[in-house]
Amino acid sequence: MKKIKPENWRQESVVARYWQKKGDKIQCNLCPRNCELKEGQKGFCQVRGNVNGKLHTYNYGISVQATIENIETEAVNHYSPGTKILSMGNVGCMMSCSYCQNWQTSQVKHLNDKNVNVYSPQEVIDLALENKIDIISWTYNDPVVWQEFVVDTSLLAKKKGIKTLYKSALYIEEAPLKELIEIIDIFSISLKGMDPVMYKKQTKGELGPVLDRLKLIGQSDKHLEISQLIVTDLNDDGNDATKTADWIVNNIGSHIPLHLVAYHPAYKYTKERTSLDTLLKLRKIVLKKGLEYCYLGNVYADNVSNTNCKSCNTQLVQRFGLSIKVVGLDQKGICTNCGTQSPVKYALDGISDEFETDRFNEIQKKTIEWKKNINSIHITIDKDHTGTILQIERCPGNRKEHILITEGLERIIISKSFTKEEQVVISSNNDSPLEFLPVLDRAHFPVKNPSVSANKYLN
Ligand code: SF4
Repeated sequence: MKKIKPENWRQESVVARYWQKKGDKIQCNLCPRNCELKEGQKGFCQVRGNVNGKLHTYNYGISVQATIENIETEAVNHYSPGTKILSMGNVGCMMSCSYCQNWQTSQVKHLNDKNVNVYSPQEVIDLALENKIDIISWTYNDPVVWQEFVVDTSLLAKKKGIKTLYKSALYIEEAPLKELIEIIDIFSISLKGMDPVMYKKQTKGELGPVLDRLKLIGQSDKHLEISQLIVTDLNDDGNDATKTADWIVNNIGSHIPLHLVAYHPAYKYTKERTSLDTLLKLRKIVLKKGLEYCYLGNVYADNVSNTNCKSCNTQLVQRFGLSIKVVGLDQKGICTNCGTQSPVKYALDGISDEFETDRFNEIQKKTIEWKKNINSIHITIDKDHTGTILQIERCPGNRKEHILITEGLERIIISKSFTKEEQVVISSNNDSPLEFLPVLDRAHFPVKNPSVSANKYLN
Protein backbone atom coordinates (compact mmCIF):
# COMPACT_ATOMS: atom_id res chain seq x y z
CA MET A 1 0.00 0.00 0.00
CA LYS A 2 1.21 3.50 -0.75
CA LYS A 3 2.21 5.84 2.08
CA ILE A 4 -0.20 8.74 2.72
CA LYS A 5 1.17 12.24 3.37
CA PRO A 6 0.00 13.61 6.74
CA GLU A 7 -1.17 16.93 5.34
CA ASN A 8 -3.33 15.10 2.79
CA TRP A 9 -4.73 12.44 5.05
CA ARG A 10 -8.35 13.60 4.84
CA GLN A 11 -8.29 13.32 1.03
CA GLU A 12 -5.93 10.41 0.28
CA SER A 13 -6.97 6.83 0.84
CA VAL A 14 -6.11 3.24 -0.01
CA VAL A 15 -8.36 0.24 -0.66
CA ALA A 16 -9.53 -1.41 2.56
CA ARG A 17 -10.56 -4.98 3.36
CA TYR A 18 -13.77 -6.36 4.95
CA TRP A 19 -16.57 -5.03 2.76
CA GLN A 20 -19.12 -6.16 0.16
CA LYS A 21 -21.25 -4.64 -2.58
CA LYS A 22 -24.87 -4.01 -1.63
CA GLY A 23 -26.91 -2.72 -4.59
CA ASP A 24 -25.59 0.72 -5.48
CA LYS A 25 -23.90 0.97 -2.07
CA ILE A 26 -21.12 -0.88 -0.31
CA GLN A 27 -21.29 -2.32 3.20
CA CYS A 28 -18.32 -2.14 5.57
CA ASN A 29 -17.90 -5.37 7.54
CA LEU A 30 -15.14 -4.28 9.91
CA CYS A 31 -17.28 -3.36 12.92
CA PRO A 32 -20.84 -4.41 13.84
CA ARG A 33 -22.18 -1.03 12.76
CA ASN A 34 -21.95 -2.32 9.15
CA CYS A 35 -22.24 1.13 7.59
CA GLU A 36 -23.87 1.12 4.15
CA LEU A 37 -22.13 3.77 2.11
CA LYS A 38 -23.08 5.56 -1.08
CA GLU A 39 -20.40 6.80 -3.48
CA GLY A 40 -18.33 9.50 -1.74
CA GLN A 41 -19.79 8.80 1.70
CA LYS A 42 -17.70 8.11 4.83
CA GLY A 43 -18.71 5.78 7.65
CA PHE A 44 -19.53 6.59 11.28
CA CYS A 45 -15.80 6.34 12.12
CA GLN A 46 -14.95 8.97 9.46
CA VAL A 47 -11.85 7.04 8.39
CA ARG A 48 -13.40 4.56 5.94
CA GLY A 49 -15.46 5.48 2.93
CA ASN A 50 -16.84 4.57 -0.50
CA VAL A 51 -14.41 5.69 -3.22
CA ASN A 52 -15.32 4.65 -6.77
CA GLY A 53 -17.43 1.77 -5.50
CA LYS A 54 -14.72 0.33 -3.21
CA LEU A 55 -14.21 0.64 0.53
CA HIS A 56 -11.16 2.79 1.24
CA THR A 57 -9.32 3.54 4.47
CA TYR A 58 -8.13 7.09 5.06
CA ASN A 59 -5.92 6.40 8.06
CA TYR A 60 -3.45 3.76 6.84
CA GLY A 61 -0.24 4.72 8.72
CA ILE A 62 -1.86 7.87 10.10
CA SER A 63 -0.94 8.06 13.74
CA VAL A 64 -0.34 10.26 16.74
CA GLN A 65 3.33 10.39 17.77
CA ALA A 66 4.91 7.05 18.63
CA THR A 67 5.53 7.07 22.39
CA ILE A 68 7.61 4.93 24.72
CA GLU A 69 5.59 3.87 27.78
CA ASN A 70 5.49 0.70 29.85
CA ILE A 71 3.15 -2.26 29.59
CA GLU A 72 1.18 -1.31 32.71
CA THR A 73 -0.02 1.82 30.85
CA GLU A 74 -2.21 -0.59 28.89
CA ALA A 75 -3.82 -2.32 31.88
CA VAL A 76 -1.60 -5.38 31.50
CA ASN A 77 -0.14 -6.64 34.78
CA HIS A 78 0.50 -10.34 34.18
CA TYR A 79 2.82 -10.14 31.16
CA SER A 80 6.46 -9.04 31.41
CA PRO A 81 6.02 -6.47 34.23
CA GLY A 82 7.73 -3.14 33.65
CA THR A 83 8.59 -3.87 30.03
CA LYS A 84 8.89 -0.89 27.68
CA ILE A 85 6.35 -0.71 24.86
CA LEU A 86 6.07 1.43 21.75
CA SER A 87 2.56 2.92 21.87
CA MET A 88 0.93 3.67 18.52
CA GLY A 89 -2.47 5.34 18.31
CA ASN A 90 -4.35 6.27 15.14
CA VAL A 91 -7.25 8.63 14.42
CA GLY A 92 -11.00 7.96 14.28
CA CYS A 93 -13.16 5.46 16.15
CA MET A 94 -16.09 3.12 15.52
CA MET A 95 -17.66 4.35 18.77
CA SER A 96 -18.31 7.76 20.30
CA CYS A 97 -18.25 7.54 24.09
CA SER A 98 -19.69 10.59 25.85
CA TYR A 99 -16.73 10.50 28.28
CA CYS A 100 -14.02 9.52 25.73
CA GLN A 101 -10.60 10.09 27.32
CA ASN A 102 -9.01 10.52 23.87
CA TRP A 103 -11.78 12.40 22.07
CA GLN A 104 -9.44 14.90 20.41
CA THR A 105 -7.96 12.10 18.30
CA SER A 106 -10.79 9.53 18.25
CA GLN A 107 -13.47 11.95 17.06
CA VAL A 108 -12.21 13.13 13.69
CA LYS A 109 -14.31 16.31 13.63
CA HIS A 110 -12.35 17.50 16.70
CA LEU A 111 -8.92 16.42 15.44
CA ASN A 112 -6.23 19.05 15.04
CA ASP A 113 -4.06 17.93 12.13
CA LYS A 114 -0.97 19.13 14.02
CA ASN A 115 -1.35 15.93 16.07
CA VAL A 116 -1.13 13.76 12.95
CA ASN A 117 2.02 11.84 11.99
CA VAL A 118 2.58 9.22 9.33
CA TYR A 119 4.48 5.94 9.59
CA SER A 120 5.03 3.01 7.28
CA PRO A 121 4.97 -0.50 8.82
CA GLN A 122 8.75 -0.70 8.37
CA GLU A 123 9.28 2.65 10.14
CA VAL A 124 7.35 1.40 13.19
CA ILE A 125 9.48 -1.76 13.29
CA ASP A 126 12.70 0.24 12.91
CA LEU A 127 11.68 2.53 15.76
CA ALA A 128 11.04 -0.46 18.01
CA LEU A 129 14.36 -2.09 17.08
CA GLU A 130 16.41 1.10 17.49
CA ASN A 131 14.95 1.62 20.95
CA LYS A 132 15.32 -2.07 21.94
CA ILE A 133 11.57 -2.43 22.46
CA ASP A 134 10.07 -5.90 22.43
CA ILE A 135 6.35 -5.01 22.32
CA ILE A 136 4.41 -2.67 20.02
CA SER A 137 1.05 -1.56 21.42
CA TRP A 138 -1.97 -0.63 19.26
CA THR A 139 -3.76 1.75 21.57
CA TYR A 140 -5.29 5.16 22.51
CA ASN A 141 -8.33 5.91 20.28
CA ASP A 142 -9.03 2.34 19.14
CA PRO A 143 -7.08 0.08 16.79
CA VAL A 144 -10.25 -1.50 15.29
CA VAL A 145 -10.43 1.21 12.63
CA TRP A 146 -6.71 0.66 11.82
CA GLN A 147 -7.10 -3.01 10.90
CA GLU A 148 -5.03 -3.08 7.70
CA PHE A 149 -2.09 -1.14 9.19
CA VAL A 150 -2.21 -3.12 12.44
CA VAL A 151 -2.20 -6.45 10.57
CA ASP A 152 0.56 -5.47 8.09
CA THR A 153 2.82 -4.08 10.83
CA SER A 154 2.14 -6.88 13.33
CA LEU A 155 3.04 -9.51 10.69
CA LEU A 156 6.32 -7.68 10.08
CA ALA A 157 6.88 -7.44 13.85
CA LYS A 158 6.40 -11.20 14.21
CA LYS A 159 9.17 -11.83 11.68
CA LYS A 160 11.53 -9.67 13.76
CA GLY A 161 10.59 -11.33 17.08
CA ILE A 162 8.67 -8.26 18.31
CA LYS A 163 5.39 -8.95 20.11
CA THR A 164 2.19 -6.94 19.72
CA LEU A 165 -0.47 -5.76 22.16
CA TYR A 166 -4.03 -4.81 21.19
CA LYS A 167 -5.84 -2.38 23.54
CA SER A 168 -9.40 -1.99 22.38
CA ALA A 169 -13.10 -1.75 23.20
CA LEU A 170 -13.47 -4.71 20.80
CA TYR A 171 -16.51 -3.46 18.88
CA ILE A 172 -15.41 -5.49 15.86
CA GLU A 173 -16.85 -8.16 13.59
CA GLU A 174 -15.87 -11.80 14.02
CA ALA A 175 -13.79 -12.26 10.83
CA PRO A 176 -11.35 -9.37 11.42
CA LEU A 177 -10.98 -10.41 15.07
CA LYS A 178 -10.12 -13.97 14.02
CA GLU A 179 -7.42 -12.51 11.78
CA LEU A 180 -6.04 -10.56 14.76
CA ILE A 181 -6.11 -13.54 17.12
CA GLU A 182 -3.77 -15.33 14.71
CA ILE A 183 -1.22 -12.51 14.93
CA ILE A 184 -1.53 -10.50 18.17
CA ASP A 185 0.14 -11.76 21.38
CA ILE A 186 -1.62 -9.75 24.11
CA PHE A 187 -5.19 -8.43 24.29
CA SER A 188 -6.22 -5.75 26.79
CA ILE A 189 -9.94 -5.20 26.38
CA SER A 190 -11.92 -2.28 27.71
CA LEU A 191 -15.37 -3.54 28.74
CA LYS A 192 -17.29 -0.34 29.27
CA GLY A 193 -20.16 -1.73 31.31
CA MET A 194 -22.72 -4.54 31.47
CA ASP A 195 -25.97 -2.62 31.02
CA PRO A 196 -26.89 -2.77 27.30
CA VAL A 197 -29.02 0.39 27.52
CA MET A 198 -26.26 2.45 29.16
CA TYR A 199 -23.71 0.93 26.77
CA LYS A 200 -25.69 1.98 23.69
CA LYS A 201 -26.55 5.44 25.02
CA GLN A 202 -23.06 6.37 26.22
CA THR A 203 -20.83 4.66 23.64
CA LYS A 204 -23.06 4.44 20.51
CA GLY A 205 -21.96 0.81 20.27
CA GLU A 206 -23.62 -2.43 21.37
CA LEU A 207 -22.66 -4.70 24.23
CA GLY A 208 -23.73 -8.07 22.71
CA PRO A 209 -21.08 -8.28 19.96
CA VAL A 210 -18.37 -7.11 22.40
CA LEU A 211 -19.16 -9.96 24.82
CA ASP A 212 -19.24 -12.48 21.95
CA ARG A 213 -15.82 -11.33 20.72
CA LEU A 214 -14.39 -11.40 24.26
CA LYS A 215 -15.41 -15.05 24.50
CA LEU A 216 -13.53 -15.74 21.24
CA ILE A 217 -10.32 -14.30 22.69
CA GLY A 218 -10.95 -16.19 25.93
CA GLN A 219 -11.12 -19.46 23.94
CA SER A 220 -7.77 -18.74 22.27
CA ASP A 221 -4.36 -19.19 23.84
CA LYS A 222 -3.61 -15.46 23.71
CA HIS A 223 -2.91 -13.39 26.83
CA LEU A 224 -6.04 -11.51 27.93
CA GLU A 225 -6.72 -8.88 30.59
CA ILE A 226 -9.92 -6.85 30.94
CA SER A 227 -10.33 -3.29 32.17
CA GLN A 228 -13.36 -1.22 33.04
CA LEU A 229 -13.31 2.56 33.18
CA ILE A 230 -15.41 3.44 36.21
CA VAL A 231 -17.40 6.52 35.25
CA THR A 232 -19.16 8.53 37.96
CA ASP A 233 -22.93 7.83 38.02
CA LEU A 234 -22.78 5.53 34.98
CA ASN A 235 -21.31 2.23 36.20
CA ASP A 236 -20.05 2.92 39.72
CA ASP A 237 -22.92 1.72 41.96
CA GLY A 238 -21.76 -1.90 42.23
CA ASN A 239 -24.28 -3.46 39.81
CA ASP A 240 -21.92 -3.37 36.87
CA ALA A 241 -19.02 -4.66 38.93
CA THR A 242 -21.16 -7.59 40.10
CA LYS A 243 -22.33 -8.41 36.57
CA THR A 244 -18.83 -7.96 35.10
CA ALA A 245 -17.26 -10.32 37.62
CA ASP A 246 -20.05 -12.91 37.18
CA TRP A 247 -19.74 -12.74 33.40
CA ILE A 248 -15.94 -13.14 33.37
CA VAL A 249 -16.00 -16.03 35.86
CA ASN A 250 -18.77 -17.85 33.96
CA ASN A 251 -17.62 -17.18 30.40
CA ILE A 252 -13.83 -16.96 30.44
CA GLY A 253 -12.38 -17.80 33.84
CA SER A 254 -11.69 -16.41 37.31
CA HIS A 255 -7.95 -16.13 36.47
CA ILE A 256 -8.47 -13.21 34.05
CA PRO A 257 -7.25 -9.98 35.72
CA LEU A 258 -9.80 -7.16 35.93
CA HIS A 259 -8.56 -3.56 36.11
CA LEU A 260 -10.96 -1.01 37.59
CA VAL A 261 -9.80 2.30 36.22
CA ALA A 262 -10.54 5.85 37.40
CA TYR A 263 -11.96 8.20 34.77
CA HIS A 264 -11.48 11.96 34.42
CA PRO A 265 -14.18 14.29 33.04
CA ALA A 266 -13.73 14.63 29.29
CA TYR A 267 -15.59 15.38 26.06
CA LYS A 268 -19.36 15.60 26.82
CA TYR A 269 -19.32 14.06 30.29
CA THR A 270 -18.30 16.35 33.12
CA LYS A 271 -19.21 14.61 36.38
CA GLU A 272 -16.51 14.36 39.05
CA ARG A 273 -13.48 12.11 38.71
CA THR A 274 -13.80 8.58 40.16
CA SER A 275 -12.78 8.48 43.82
CA LEU A 276 -10.36 5.97 45.33
CA ASP A 277 -13.11 4.95 47.82
CA THR A 278 -15.41 3.98 44.94
CA LEU A 279 -12.70 1.86 43.30
CA LEU A 280 -11.88 0.13 46.59
CA LYS A 281 -15.59 -0.64 47.18
CA LEU A 282 -15.94 -2.14 43.68
CA ARG A 283 -12.75 -4.16 44.07
CA LYS A 284 -14.20 -5.80 47.19
CA ILE A 285 -17.33 -6.75 45.23
CA VAL A 286 -15.52 -8.38 42.30
CA LEU A 287 -13.15 -10.31 44.54
CA LYS A 288 -16.13 -11.59 46.52
CA LYS A 289 -17.74 -12.71 43.26
CA GLY A 290 -14.76 -14.96 42.59
CA LEU A 291 -12.30 -13.03 40.45
CA GLU A 292 -8.77 -13.85 41.56
CA TYR A 293 -7.00 -10.64 40.50
CA CYS A 294 -8.39 -7.11 40.56
CA TYR A 295 -6.16 -4.05 40.10
CA LEU A 296 -6.96 -0.34 40.42
CA GLY A 297 -5.82 1.91 37.60
CA ASN A 298 -5.04 5.63 37.40
CA VAL A 299 -4.41 5.60 41.13
CA TYR A 300 -1.07 6.68 42.60
CA ALA A 301 -1.26 4.98 45.99
CA ASP A 302 0.41 2.07 47.74
CA ASN A 303 -1.11 -1.41 47.86
CA VAL A 304 -3.81 -1.00 45.19
CA SER A 305 -2.17 -2.93 42.37
CA ASN A 306 0.35 -5.37 43.82
CA THR A 307 0.33 -9.03 42.86
CA ASN A 308 0.59 -11.42 45.80
CA CYS A 309 1.12 -15.18 45.86
CA LYS A 310 -2.18 -17.10 46.06
CA SER A 311 -0.60 -19.71 48.33
CA CYS A 312 1.59 -17.85 50.83
CA ASN A 313 0.53 -14.21 50.23
CA THR A 314 4.14 -13.12 49.60
CA GLN A 315 4.33 -9.97 47.53
CA LEU A 316 5.39 -10.94 44.00
CA VAL A 317 5.14 -7.68 42.07
CA GLN A 318 5.05 -4.28 43.73
CA ARG A 319 3.39 -1.47 41.79
CA PHE A 320 3.01 2.24 42.38
CA GLY A 321 1.24 4.01 39.52
CA LEU A 322 3.30 2.95 36.51
CA SER A 323 6.42 2.02 38.51
CA ILE A 324 7.08 -1.67 38.93
CA LYS A 325 9.37 -3.86 41.01
CA VAL A 326 9.38 -7.64 40.68
CA VAL A 327 10.16 -8.64 44.25
CA GLY A 328 9.15 -12.27 44.72
CA LEU A 329 9.31 -14.09 41.39
CA ASP A 330 11.94 -16.00 39.49
CA GLN A 331 12.41 -16.01 35.71
CA LYS A 332 9.64 -18.58 35.29
CA GLY A 333 7.12 -16.60 37.36
CA ILE A 334 7.43 -18.92 40.36
CA CYS A 335 7.04 -17.53 43.89
CA THR A 336 10.52 -17.44 45.41
CA ASN A 337 9.06 -18.07 48.88
CA CYS A 338 6.84 -21.14 48.45
CA GLY A 339 7.45 -22.33 44.87
CA THR A 340 3.87 -21.76 43.63
CA GLN A 341 3.49 -20.91 39.95
CA SER A 342 2.09 -17.37 39.56
CA PRO A 343 0.06 -16.19 36.52
CA VAL A 344 2.77 -13.65 35.61
CA LYS A 345 4.43 -14.51 32.29
CA TYR A 346 8.00 -13.48 31.39
CA ALA A 347 8.38 -12.22 34.97
CA LEU A 348 11.89 -10.81 34.71
CA ASP A 349 12.11 -9.91 30.99
CA GLY A 350 10.89 -6.33 31.53
CA ILE A 351 13.61 -5.46 33.99
CA SER A 352 16.02 -3.81 31.61
CA ASP A 353 19.46 -2.52 32.42
CA GLU A 354 19.31 1.21 32.96
CA PHE A 355 21.11 3.27 30.37
CA GLU A 356 24.19 4.63 32.12
CA THR A 357 26.33 7.51 31.00
CA ASP A 358 29.30 9.33 32.41
CA ARG A 359 29.19 11.95 29.66
CA PHE A 360 26.04 13.81 30.65
CA ASN A 361 26.52 17.54 30.19
CA GLU A 362 23.53 19.54 31.39
CA ILE A 363 22.48 22.27 28.94
CA GLN A 364 18.85 22.85 29.98
CA LYS A 365 16.65 21.72 32.84
CA LYS A 366 13.07 21.96 34.05
CA THR A 367 11.43 20.98 37.31
CA ILE A 368 8.03 19.27 37.20
CA GLU A 369 6.06 19.27 40.46
CA TRP A 370 3.64 16.36 40.81
CA LYS A 371 0.10 17.54 41.57
CA LYS A 372 -2.95 15.71 42.88
CA ASN A 373 -4.16 14.80 39.38
CA ILE A 374 -0.91 14.96 37.44
CA ASN A 375 1.34 12.01 38.15
CA SER A 376 2.76 11.49 34.65
CA ILE A 377 3.97 13.64 31.78
CA HIS A 378 4.76 13.06 28.16
CA ILE A 379 8.01 14.70 27.12
CA THR A 380 8.05 15.64 23.46
CA ILE A 381 11.47 16.08 21.89
CA ASP A 382 12.20 18.10 18.77
CA LYS A 383 12.48 15.96 15.63
CA ASP A 384 16.14 16.87 15.10
CA HIS A 385 17.38 15.36 18.31
CA THR A 386 19.34 12.17 17.64
CA GLY A 387 21.69 11.52 20.53
CA THR A 388 19.77 13.62 23.05
CA ILE A 389 20.20 12.26 26.57
CA LEU A 390 17.56 13.09 29.15
CA GLN A 391 18.43 12.94 32.83
CA ILE A 392 15.52 12.38 35.23
CA GLU A 393 16.30 13.22 38.87
CA ARG A 394 13.66 12.06 41.34
CA CYS A 395 13.23 14.20 44.47
CA PRO A 396 13.51 13.74 47.37
CA GLY A 397 16.27 11.16 47.11
CA ASN A 398 18.00 12.61 44.04
CA ARG A 399 18.15 9.25 42.25
CA LYS A 400 19.12 9.86 38.63
CA GLU A 401 18.06 7.94 35.51
CA HIS A 402 19.20 8.54 31.94
CA ILE A 403 17.27 8.01 28.73
CA LEU A 404 18.87 8.03 25.27
CA ILE A 405 16.58 9.39 22.56
CA THR A 406 17.09 7.73 19.18
CA GLU A 407 16.18 8.97 15.73
CA GLY A 408 12.47 8.99 14.93
CA LEU A 409 11.36 8.92 18.54
CA GLU A 410 9.59 12.03 19.76
CA ARG A 411 7.74 11.11 22.94
CA ILE A 412 8.34 9.32 26.21
CA ILE A 413 6.33 9.09 29.41
CA ILE A 414 7.71 9.84 32.90
CA SER A 415 5.66 8.98 36.00
CA LYS A 416 5.76 9.52 39.73
CA SER A 417 7.53 6.47 41.16
CA PHE A 418 6.95 6.52 44.94
CA THR A 419 4.41 7.98 47.38
CA LYS A 420 6.61 10.77 48.68
CA GLU A 421 8.09 11.79 45.33
CA GLU A 422 7.33 15.52 45.06
CA GLN A 423 9.03 16.46 41.81
CA VAL A 424 11.33 15.41 39.00
CA VAL A 425 14.10 17.54 37.55
CA ILE A 426 14.43 16.87 33.83
CA SER A 427 17.66 17.93 32.14
CA SER A 428 18.94 17.45 28.63
CA ASN A 429 22.41 17.55 27.11
CA ASN A 430 21.50 19.91 24.26
CA ASP A 431 19.25 22.90 23.58
CA SER A 432 16.77 20.99 21.41
CA PRO A 433 13.30 22.23 22.47
CA LEU A 434 11.46 19.99 24.95
CA GLU A 435 7.70 20.15 25.45
CA PHE A 436 5.95 18.85 28.58
CA LEU A 437 2.37 17.59 28.26
CA PRO A 438 0.62 16.44 31.46
CA VAL A 439 -0.94 12.98 31.25
CA LEU A 440 -4.21 13.02 33.14
CA ASP A 441 -4.54 9.26 33.12
CA ARG A 442 -2.91 6.25 31.54
CA ALA A 443 -3.96 5.49 27.98
CA HIS A 444 -4.74 9.19 27.62
CA PHE A 445 -2.78 10.70 24.75
CA PRO A 446 -2.19 14.36 25.65
CA VAL A 447 -2.47 16.82 22.79
CA LYS A 448 -1.25 20.39 22.44
CA ASN A 449 -4.74 21.86 22.72
CA PRO A 450 -6.13 20.67 26.07
CA SER A 451 -9.88 20.84 26.59
CA VAL A 452 -11.72 22.94 29.17
CA SER A 453 -12.52 19.86 31.26
CA ALA A 454 -8.87 18.73 31.17
CA ASN A 455 -7.64 22.20 32.06
CA LYS A 456 -9.61 22.06 35.31
CA TYR A 457 -7.23 19.31 36.43
CA LEU A 458 -4.09 20.67 34.83
CA ASN A 459 -4.02 23.94 36.76
S1 SF4 B 1 -15.43 0.51 10.71
FE1 SF4 B 1 -16.25 2.57 10.31
S2 SF4 B 1 -17.16 2.46 8.27
FE2 SF4 B 1 -16.83 0.34 8.97
S3 SF4 B 1 -18.78 -0.26 9.87
FE3 SF4 B 1 -17.51 0.51 11.54
S4 SF4 B 1 -18.00 2.70 11.72
FE4 SF4 B 1 -18.80 1.99 9.74
